[in-house]
Amino acid sequence: MRNIVPARSATDKREYMARTLRPKIQRLLPEFLDAFPPLPAQTSPWPSAASGPLPLPDWDALCAEFGPLPNPFSGIGPGATSAEASAAPAFLPGETAARARLDAFLATGLSTYADDRNTPVGPAGALLSPYLHFGQISAQRVALCVLAVVGVPVAARDAFLEQLIVRRELAENFCLHTPDYDTPAAFPPWAEATLAKHQADPRPHLASGAELMDARTPDPPWNAAQRQLLGTGHMHGWLRMFWAKQLLLWSADAATALSRCLGLNDSLSLDGRDVNG
Ligand SMILES: Cc1cc2nc3c(=O)[nH]c(=O)nc-3n(C[C@H](O)[C@H](O)[C@H](O)COP(=O)(O)OP(=O)(O)OC[C@H]3O[C@@H](n4cnc5c(N)ncnc54)[C@H](O)[C@@H]3O)c2cc1C
Repeated sequence: MRNIVPARSATDKREYMARTLRPKIQRLLPEFLDAFPPLPAQTSPWPSAASGPLPLPDWDALCAEFGPLPNPFSGIGPGATSAEASAAPAFLPGETAARARLDAFLATGLSTYADDRNTPVGPAGALLSPYLHFGQISAQRVALCVLAVVGVPVAARDAFLEQLIVRRELAENFCLHTPDYDTPAAFPPWAEATLAKHQADPRPHLASGAELMDARTPDPPWNAAQRQLLGTGHMHGWLRMFWAKQLLLWSADAATALSRCLGLNDSLSLDGRDVNG
């Protein structure tokens, strides 16, 4: 269950702004944001005695077939020291780790979320998107836990639920109702107009794909953001906007910039390949 309000129940058309989707979601929240029923105990043995234990994946065979890939779990980025390379991964996988991350956010991050959420340093975000992406925690569980915390400023709570529910479900609505949602065909007319107006602007540096991947562009802040992505598998949302827009400056056209942006985001972000991207 990805959303709290199913995308097809919220609306049957494309919503162009949070402003128009928000009231539709809010109207349906009392129906959908309800407590989870208790989980019935598992009674049948698993794996069953007849089938025997499940085989473990053959990692060596998989690596031989697909070759070495940049691995965000490993903490290795270009220029990483051996200490960085052996550092603990930024995100431990699994349901228990997801719950621990949520508990940490509820204890220390939530109360200042409204003021700090756009600050790329410090505990400004929940860092839950990889867990939400892989279904290791649900948005509904997160929302219920947030609503249960006592003493949190209403503005902080509402600012977080706006991202977790409205913005996230707006992204789902966009992909559901936009054909070719990941191509320039999905650009709105105002974006097409401004891109066309600036197509002939000078582009003194056209970056290669390798330069981008290896964080070797002429822009140190961009390289730092890219190194964070390579090293941790995550980038703060505010930085992501800067990181994505810069690609336009170093690419011959918007179609190339978009395809590079999606390629880097989807291969390096733990939360990539997601409607939010
Ligand atoms: C260029 C670009 C690429 C992005 N790619 C992805 C992606 O591949 N996967 C992804 O999950 N998010 C993506 N986002 C949205 C956002 O940046 C991340 O969801 C957020 O940074 C996740 O960190 P967090 O869990 O600490 O977020 P928090 O600020 O703690 O927010 C809580 C949750 O709300 C949701 N959320 C937050 N911001 C947004 C947003 N702008 N749109 C939709 N939902 C949001 C996420 O599920 C997030 O986990 C992208 C944003 C940009 C600008």
